[in-house]
Amino acid sequence: MKDSDCSELAVLRGKLDVVNQQILELLNERARLVLDVQQVKRRNDINMFCPGRENQMLDDLVACNKGPFSDAVVRQIFKEIFRASLESMQAAGIESLTVSRSGKPGDVVINVRGHEIGRAPVVIAGPCAIESEQQAMEVARHLVGAGVFFMRGGAFKPRTSPYSFQGLGQGALEILDAVRRETGVVTVTEVTDTRSVDAVAAAVDILQVGSRNMANYELLRAVGATGKPVLLKRGFAATLDEFLLAAEYVAREGNEQIILCERGIRTFARETRYTLDISAVPILRQSCRLPVLVDVSHASGRRDLVVPLAKAAMAAGASGVMVEVHPAPAMALSDSAQQLDFDEFDVLLRELGMAGPDVRAAATGDNH
Ligand code: PEP
Ligand code: MN
Repeated sequence: MKDSDCSELAVLRGKLDVVNQQILELLNERARLVLDVQQVKRRNDINMFCPGRENQMLDDLVACNKGPFSDAVVRQIFKEIFRASLESMQAAGIESLTVSRSGKPGDVVINVRGHEIGRAPVVIAGPCAIESEQQAMEVARHLVGAGVFFMRGGAFKPRTSPYSFQGLGQGALEILDAVRRETGVVTVTEVTDTRSVDAVAAAVDILQVGSRNMANYELLRAVGATGKPVLLKRGFAATLDEFLLAAEYVAREGNEQIILCERGIRTFARETRYTLDISAVPILRQSCRLPVLVDVSHASGRRDLVVPLAKAAMAAGASGVMVEVHPAPAMALSDSAQQLDFDEFDVLLRELGMAGPDVRAAATGDNH
């Protein structure tokens, strides 16, 4: 190559390097503008995605195109830029949720009558369904004796078959109200319908939204609006982003008293009822400030797996576990294969190192 060509090449390459830098700066400037647009849209409740605007921008660019790139190439390049912007918008979407960890200090701690979720590990235990006042009282008394103050019990049961036991409904709410007044336990029950939110909120302390209703956005808004703590279960076919966005529906009502609950997802495995997604626990803890529980009963559907799965949940950083407990599991009207009897429940607490004084004393034969 001639010397003059050599130096021309070096100059041209130098110019290319400068243009590359300028394009990079402009691309990042564009990405920042897209995030600003997103903030304004979110403040004003405007839909984030606007395909009409994207097509208009492409048409405008092609109309100004003087080459040497063909119109098709210009469209291709800008489509790629738009796609990248959309991706950064979606990523920022999760990071900038009310409940996200980024930029905000501290974890959410739920406190009901002095009993906290989100600080020391907790157990929420109780029958799949409230079947009678006697059954519910028996469970509550056992829990309190074992130092467990959170009791679950279904009133409205979302059953796969319409012919299965559907729960006692309003009758169960009355029982749950009596149980909390009599024993002091903090109660949790599922609400399945916007029309019963007020009745459930009046009768229990924590409103549960079940797996099948995780994406029932009207229900999420309605439970959020009560201002009461909400235990939100992961949909069994929901991604973690979908789960966090469901929690955002509750949080947007001005209610950050949300407990997330991983309860197993649908996979090809047949040995268990669902597959416990243990990695959901640390991922959710990384991305949001909410307590994360694991329902070890519904995840497996098997009482023999409750102890190992509960240990795994706590090792993974869960704020606690939910477990089904029934005075006589064999007689239970629902989920009989997964409910623990009282002795099995006491073993679980001991295995988790969470047995209260009474249970520890019984275990050592030390009764004074
Ligand atoms: C329940 O906890 O009673 C229940 C039905 O759980 P899930 O919504 O997780 O199936
Ligand atoms: Mn159940």
